[in-house]
Amino acid sequence: MKEFPGTSGLILNEPLLWEKGKKGRCGFSLPRRDVESFPVDENLAGDGPDFPDLSEVDVVRHYTRLSQWNFSVDSGMYPLGSCTMKYNPKTNERQAAQPGFAAAHPMLHPDLSQGILKLMFDLERFLIEITGMDAATLQPAAGAHGELAGMLLFYTYHQSKGAPRSKIIVPDTAHGTNPASAALCGYKPVPIKSNEKGILAPEDVAAVMDEQTAGIMVTNPNTLGLFEENIKKIAEIVHAKGGLVYGDGANMNAVMGITDMGKIGIDVLHLNLHKTFSTPHGGGGPGAGPVCVLKHLEPFLPVPRVILKKGRYLLSENFPESIGTLHAFNGNVGVLVKAYSYIMSLGAENLKKASQLAVLNASYIKTQLKETFKLAYDRPCMHECVFSDELQQAHKVTTLDIVKRLMDYGFHPPTIYFPLVVPGAIMIEPTETESKEDIDLFVQSLKAIAKEAAENPQLLTEAPTKCHRRRLDETMAARKPCLTG
Ligand SMILES: *Cc1c(COP(=O)(O)O)cnc(C)c1O
Repeated sequence: MKEFPGTSGLILNEPLLWEKGKKGRCGFSLPRRDVESFPVDENLAGDGPDFPDLSEVDVVRHYTRLSQWNFSVDSGMYPLGSCTMKYNPKTNERQAAQPGFAAAHPMLHPDLSQGILKLMFDLERFLIEITGMDAATLQPAAGAHGELAGMLLFYTYHQSKGAPRSKIIVPDTAHGTNPASAALCGYKPVPIKSNEKGILAPEDVAAVMDEQTAGIMVTNPNTLGLFEENIKKIAEIVHAKGGLVYGDGANMNAVMGITDMGKIGIDVLHLNLHKTFSTPHGGGGPGAGPVCVLKHLEPFLPVPRVILKKGRYLLSENFPESIGTLHAFNGNVGVLVKAYSYIMSLGAENLKKASQLAVLNASYIKTQLKETFKLAYDRPCMHECVFSDELQQAHKVTTLDIVKRLMDYGFHPPTIYFPLVVPGAIMIEPTETESKEDIDLFVQSLKAIAKEAAENPQLLTEAPTKCHRRRLDETMAARKPCLTG
């Protein structure tokens, strides 16, 4: 067996820049002044911000050391369920950084921005083809923003029929953003339980669907990593009562080019480009949550929209039924360039293959670990699998202890205690970018930890021991954050 990647390594301590600064130290050197000095007007200059004086090497070492405290998809496996933390090929960053894209001013005349407009026009078409929908907007800046766009589309659609509605059905496995987005649009979320198989039952939807209900929000594959097999039947029930079906497509990484979302009954679907289509995320950087719709909702899409007229790409506001504008200019365009580059470099066949490998990897982990940890739902999974700490409770160790120990083995912990329907959930999403060797090492680590739980549980309850920081007091960190270090 190969060695586990976890190590205490040589990680240097690092003070704050303010503690490091020394009066008069400087990050640049200018030639000797050859003009008379002239005093700055104190009243105009003021005191200025309290920046420390530092040399170039001070600053470079400071940030390099801090970056070494961090864990990222570029340093190792990051199996955070529901987040699709896959490796993002660097070529996509390079394309987005090209001056023609990075420096394009959003107010340039269309004649001077045909390239980026064409890219946006084509990206909409790619996303429509990948999902099986009819039209798209690239404006929303994140998944939750896409959900908000979707709810506004629902609202405007019902308004256009002259019959506004007040409620939305949201399953108990939904991401927290779903009920929040519905509530933000003034809808009352109506929760429904998933069944013993971890999916929605048509009769449970039928029981709550009525003519006051604007529709349903369904995540498919859902947050348990399971495909909502009854989606077609559910969509029929909702449509029969005049409702619409929202598809949360944040988990599209499992079904790219495989599931035709339009055919299975979805009316509106958002995608997370920063999960599925190669934008690094998790650090609060820009994202994009494009929304795809079927034909009957296209008139309501946000403006401006990119249109093609007599061979020229233009931005048009001429959509009188539109819900309006959701983001300044055209959304987070850099993220769109990365998605375009990713899609172009993989091509249709390989996008599909990426999804197949993502599912294969998760299924492999599920099979390898199902004797070691309690599997929440023992049935075929999609891109992620969910275990719990049920078998380890006898040794008085919890999900938190298990994943903290995983850090000592050199892996980022999976998502824990979510979804809420599985007590003590451990939700693992390896993505397609991990090799079999790395996945085997991850599996062996978790098996070794399960053994430690039985033989020496203290190793878990005191973990992590190799990391730069030990176990944090998370309650204190949330209630009394210390922001000065
Ligand atoms: C990540 C995620 C979201 C929210 O996306 P953001 O870009 O973080 O707003 C919504 N639904 C599901 C299922 C997700 O996994």
